[in-house]
Amino acid sequence: MSQSKNQSEQSWPVFSKEFVSVLENLSADAVLNKIPSREHLLAILDPQKIPLLPLLEATRRVREHFCGKDVRVQILNNLQNGQCTEDCNYCAQSTSSCADIKTYPMKPDDEIFAGAQRCAESGGNRYCMVLSGRAPTAERIQHLASLVSEIKKRHNIEVCVSAGFIDAEQARVLKNAGLDRYNHNLNTSSQYYDKICSSHSHADRMACLEAAKSVGLDLCSGLIVGMGESLDDIVSVAIALRRLNVKSVPVNFYMHIPGSRLGEVGQLTPEYCLRVLCLFRFVHPDAEVRAAGGREINLRSLQPLALYAVNSLFCEGYLNSSGQALENTKAMICDAGYVIGQVEE
Ligand code: SF4
Repeated sequence: MSQSKNQSEQSWPVFSKEFVSVLENLSADAVLNKIPSREHLLAILDPQKIPLLPLLEATRRVREHFCGKDVRVQILNNLQNGQCTEDCNYCAQSTSSCADIKTYPMKPDDEIFAGAQRCAESGGNRYCMVLSGRAPTAERIQHLASLVSEIKKRHNIEVCVSAGFIDAEQARVLKNAGLDRYNHNLNTSSQYYDKICSSHSHADRMACLEAAKSVGLDLCSGLIVGMGESLDDIVSVAIALRRLNVKSVPVNFYMHIPGSRLGEVGQLTPEYCLRVLCLFRFVHPDAEVRAAGGREINLRSLQPLALYAVNSLFCEGYLNSSGQALENTKAMICDAGYVIGQVEE
């Protein structure tokens, strides 16, 4: 055997042909809307088992089978920022964080209604209201319910709220006011949860999602990738979200904000981020899978390839960091051969 062949064998992984049947199985499960096996999901995350380009192509077929070429674009609307008494160590809004962020109480109603109007007039079909904090008081729930009901009266748009832990009774008040969807992220697996937070548990988050689901609200719930969790944790949270039948799955990539307690964690690679997005498409074939916070700094120049897996993007910035501008996001979608769907605020 020549030396140059030896060198080339050392430089590139040699894939067994088994990856072809793994991708066929994953695709067959996705088309039947079945949860793939844990073994196949772990293979997606392993660059020694499945080469990236065939993985992306198989994912693209599933994505386009269920979601066509559309990409929804969402602009986050933060109604209240910071001063949260929970101790989630990744979050700049926690009072246990020293991050230098702009904190503000809930915006006045007229600003909130103006946001909903802007959203409706720009052709958006969903308005999302996000508030920091552990849980809304009874008074806050009544206030949110009155906002939801007024927005639904004024505009033909869907409304989503993210306001922390709620129980079934509070969820029913919001549902009766016309709320369509509730957001509450699981963030990581049950096994890893105590490494990121001690003031509440994974079970608390599950209970909130179950409460919202029990009254017929659609669920939006996702995770943050890159907080030191294992590959197994990523698979577990994907499956847990699937069992909850979430309609919308924001996949965030950890961004360290100086002052936050979690600090710098090992760098995510663009290829790994793409693999995680592919995994979420196979587990949630017909859901709105979104490349959310941190896509720009973690996917870097490979961002357009994420569109082979996701049918939704955040842009313009996240809770406490900036993001790709709307116009550049639209250009990227068109350049990649996809179609801009709804722009939501
Ligand atoms: S509950 Fe939400 S806002 Fe509060 S610290 Fe945790 S992630 Fe941040």
